[in-house]
Amino acid sequence: MLRPLQIDPSKCFIAGSWVGALSGETLPLVNPSEGSTLCDIARGKSADIDAAVRAADAALAGTWGKATAAERGRMLASIGRAVLDHVDELAQLEAMDVGKPLSQARADVLALARYLEFYGGAADKVHGETIPYLDGYTVYTLREPHGVTGHIIPWNYPMQIIGRSVGAALAMGNACVLKPAEEACLTALAFAEIARQAGLPDGALNVVPGLGAEAGAALSAHPGVQHISFTGSVGVGKRIQQAVSANVVPVTLELGGKSPQVVFDDADIAAALPFLVNAGIQNAGQTCSASSRILVQRGVYDQVVEEMSGRYAQLRTGPALSDLDVGPLVSLRQKEIVDGFLAKSSDLQIVAQGQIVDDAPAGGAYVAPTLFAGVPPGHTLAQDEIFGPVQVIIPFADEAEAIAIANGTDFGLVASCWSENGARQMRMARALRAGQVFINNYGAGGGVELPFGGTGLSGHGREKGFEALYGFSVLKTVAALHH
Ligand code: ADP
Repeated sequence: MLRPLQIDPSKCFIAGSWVGALSGETLPLVNPSEGSTLCDIARGKSADIDAAVRAADAALAGTWGKATAAERGRMLASIGRAVLDHVDELAQLEAMDVGKPLSQARADVLALARYLEFYGGAADKVHGETIPYLDGYTVYTLREPHGVTGHIIPWNYPMQIIGRSVGAALAMGNACVLKPAEEACLTALAFAEIARQAGLPDGALNVVPGLGAEAGAALSAHPGVQHISFTGSVGVGKRIQQAVSANVVPVTLELGGKSPQVVFDDADIAAALPFLVNAGIQNAGQTCSASSRILVQRGVYDQVVEEMSGRYAQLRTGPALSDLDVGPLVSLRQKEIVDGFLAKSSDLQIVAQGQIVDDAPAGGAYVAPTLFAGVPPGHTLAQDEIFGPVQVIIPFADEAEAIAIANGTDFGLVASCWSENGARQMRMARALRAGQVFINNYGAGGGVELPFGGTGLSGHGREKGFEALYGFSVLKTVAALHH
């Protein structure tokens, strides 16, 4: 039981009720800080997804479908307040489940509540327009929900991603089927219970845990789903895009990146330093928008390498509940992937590593934060998404070379430019290939209000901010002829 929410985590949440997977099967959920089993979760499959889609359809035909925009907004706002009432409990669950340090998990709860506050407030502020047209016509546009929306989310930021995708979808009047990741789904279940207790009508939100190849694949291919949003790996994103094409429904894909921070000679290095390091090691580097490449102009290169190394040497990695700088990776499988990258780096120079604390349990998925310098831009470590606490520093000579290196991967999610030269800031903002560009910061404090999404292998479509509300709705044009 997840107390005091009183949830049985081995259940799915469908049509407002907690029900076991129809097969009766479960999967073990592992605590990555220790390698021990936390609890069993439901192994949802296509029959459970089908039941969830039917429940969502029924919600659209019932109370939820009839709710006004203001009522939906008020509902989201109350769920957001209820989330805050459970801040400690949710933070603990997320920390144990994902392995993230407790204070980072707590920040995620606050972000979830903020998404609900934002989308609650925005629900009744999405207007259509009137369009001047031929004589005798009145033409206007309506924003309508897609219908049933599928949300396939990863394990790295479950609460934040629920906030940005389910929050926006519900604001626009969709009914949601959420497939959390098999590695971390406890806060998705807790969120469903919080929403139920806050009065969200049955079927407006359904949660079906399970394996990607089973529940996830069934959701993305389900003909009763009218929109899919997916956050996760490039490989799975491609499969999902193929699956939804059979039903010709829109899909939003957020697939990660290899995001650069570009530091020029004239940058305020002291201001940049915490961003340079934190953006790489936050959530143990398992962040789509992690900054895994630090590009540094030659005039300040030695200084930046030295000062980043100094910070790395101070980093401590240990169990999530010890709340150190870095937690374990989400799983031993993820650790194997990251170790695999490190094994391919014997030709590179490690300039600094953080430490794993002595009392970190032996079965945990720990990787010491590792900083490389002098990395050739074409090297695997500078090209591929590692999804671990690993950063590479790459020197550059001038602006043209910085742009070529920064844009020289298949990804394009986030980028930043550190410089005190205003004209350069503007040039870089235009030149960097990314869905978000930050000037003299990185991440802008999470940015619930700021549209987010990528280009290239980072995906397409935009979430967060007002933009998400357009993505989670369809435009209808009405042309009335009245002589
Ligand atoms: P990661 O590699 O970081 O674990 P994935 O892309 O594998 O990320 O997983 C993100 C989400 O996609 C998870 O909820 C997972 O269960 C789901 N998923 C994995 N494979 C598939 C698939 N073939 N179809 C649909 N969803 C999937």
